[in-house]
Amino acid sequence: MSTPLHDLVLDDRPLDRLLADASQETRGILDRALNREELGVEDGIHLLGTEGDDLAALIRCADAIRREDVGDEVTYVVNRNINWTNICFVGCQFCAFAVHRKDPNAYNHSIDDVLVKVQDAIDRGASEVCMQGGINPESDGMFYRDLLIAIKERHPKLHIHAFSPMEIMYGARRTNLSYREFLTILRDAGLGTIPGTAAEILDDDVREILSHKKVDVATWVDIVTTAHELGLRSSSTIMYGHIETPEQIARHVVLIRDLQKRTGGFTEFVPLRFIHTLTELYKRGLVDPPKGGEIDFRMYAFSRLMLRGSIDNLQTSWVKLGAELSQLTLKAGCNDFGGTLMEESITKSAGGDAGEYLPEEEIRRLILEIGRIPVQRNTTYGRIDSEGAAHHGVGGRSGSSPLPARPAATA
Ligand code: SF4
Repeated sequence: MSTPLHDLVLDDRPLDRLLADASQETRGILDRALNREELGVEDGIHLLGTEGDDLAALIRCADAIRREDVGDEVTYVVNRNINWTNICFVGCQFCAFAVHRKDPNAYNHSIDDVLVKVQDAIDRGASEVCMQGGINPESDGMFYRDLLIAIKERHPKLHIHAFSPMEIMYGARRTNLSYREFLTILRDAGLGTIPGTAAEILDDDVREILSHKKVDVATWVDIVTTAHELGLRSSSTIMYGHIETPEQIARHVVLIRDLQKRTGGFTEFVPLRFIHTLTELYKRGLVDPPKGGEIDFRMYAFSRLMLRGSIDNLQTSWVKLGAELSQLTLKAGCNDFGGTLMEESITKSAGGDAGEYLPEEEIRRLILEIGRIPVQRNTTYGRIDSEGAAHHGVGGRSGSSPLPARPAATA
C-alpha cells in the first residue's frame, strides 16, 4: 500500500537529483556526510528540522551511506526478553510498566521462575536472553549476581545481555561496592553485555522532569565507560518524541559518539520512539507527542549520518514502530532489525500495540521483501550460520577498537 510516507521514503528520484532539489544548507550538510566529514551539533539540529524535499534527500543520503558502510545485509538476533519484576520505586513519568509492590498486578519472579523462561528461550533457538527489571527496594543487590550464576551453571554458552545502568547503580549502592567492583563481579558471574538503556535523553534538565530519581548523566557515562573498560560491551539508545528539543537530541548523539571514540564499546545505536498512551507524562498533559511516521525516519536517517565512522549498526525498533514501519526504516539508514523478543512488557504497558514476538521467519520475510539480505547475528554482531555456529563479531564501530580483551568468566 502506498502512503505519503512510502512516497517520501521510496522517492524514485536519484540521489543527485534529490540533493539538487534540497535547500542549499541541507545539501551542504549532506555533502559533508557523504564525504565522511563528522557532523556537529548545529548540523544535527538542522537535519532534525528537515521536511519535504530536504527530508527526502536526508533519508536517501542515509540509505546511501548505509549501503557504502555496511552493505545490504540486515542482521537480527534470536533472543528472549525477561522482565523479572515490575516492582519499582523510581517513578519515571514515561513508564507505565512499573507498579508499587502492593499493586495487585505486581510480580517478582524468583530465580527458578526466570530459569523456566530461559529454558523456553533456549528451546526456541535463542542465542541471547535480555534481562531488565524494575528497581525493587526489597531486592538484594547480589540478586543480580546470583541470577547470572544460576543461568550460566545450566547454560554456559547462552549470552546474557542484562542490567541497565540504573540497575547497576542500584546494585552497587545496595552492596556498598564501587561500579567497577560491582560490574567486575557481574562480569565474572557470566554477564556478557549490558543494555545502554536508562539513557532516555542524556540531559539532566530533561531527566529532572522525566524522572528525578533516575541515574544522572555523569553517572550513566561513568557506569557505561567502566563497563566498556572491563570488556563488557553495550548497546546505546535514545528515547525521542516527548519533551526534548532537537538540540538535546543532537547533543545526546554527540555524547554517545564521543564516548565511543574513547572506549569503542558500543555495539549499536537504537532510537526508541516514546510510546505515550498510558504514561503519567501524557495523562498529566506534560507532553503532546508528535504523530509517528516522519519523525521516525528523520531520527533514523539523522542517526546514520551523525554516527558515521563511529557506530556502524543502527537498529530499528519494531516493538515501537510496528513491523511494517520498521521494515521501511531499512530504507532510512537502518541495518539491524533487533530481536525476536518472545516476551515484551514495557512498551505494551505504555500502550504499544506491535506485539511481543516477531518470529525469525517473519523478520527474514520482511527483510527479503524490501530487497535486502537477512543474517542472524549474536549480541556482539558475530554472524550465526545455519548450523548455529557463531563467527567473529564485526563490532559496532568503524576502524580499530581500543576495547580491551574480555577476561574469561569464572562461573
Ligand atoms: S523506567 Fe525502569 S526505573 Fe523507571 S519506573 Fe520504569 S521500571 Fe522503574
